[in-house]
Amino acid sequence: MAIRPILTFEQPVLREKAKKVSRVDTSIQRLIDDLTETMLDAPGAGLAANQIGVPLRVCVVKGDDNQIWGLVNPEIVKHAGEQIGPEGCLSYPGWVGEVKRFETVVVKARNRHGKEVRIKSSGFTARAFQHELDHLDGVLFIDQLTSLETLRRVEDLEAVAAASV
Ligand code: ZN
Repeated sequence: MAIRPILTFEQPVLREKAKKVSRVDTSIQRLIDDLTETMLDAPGAGLAANQIGVPLRVCVVKGDDNQIWGLVNPEIVKHAGEQIGPEGCLSYPGWVGEVKRFETVVVKARNRHGKEVRIKSSGFTARAFQHELDHLDGVLFIDQLTSLETLRRVEDLEAVAAASV
């Protein structure tokens, strides 16, 4: 495992649609391990492969109970309700803004063994899944703000870490 540099928003790879993974092999498992280590070190609640310069549909998300999901080709197959709240991004350090998301989502993906999984989540974890899936389509939270006026600089590192994905 290795901690990889996290790219910031001006890097073009963060604006590209990431490619589907055709086979879950050891290189994908290594990528999931690197993403996990980099996310925990940052610290953040999620990280997408293109944030470390790899344009593949792979991401990791940390749940409220500290469970970590490594997902390959994730997609939202069901959603319900909505939530509005503060959100930040490891590729946009120090800034938080208000984003509207689904309250509950079911994500279908392959896990690190290539097996199909379905994960139901709500609240902040559901927010993290939606934020990471956006990354894989080249979309940043800054594009999703309810209003540009909600964007604010956050000096409190703990608060930023709690909201950054
Ligand atoms: Zn992000």
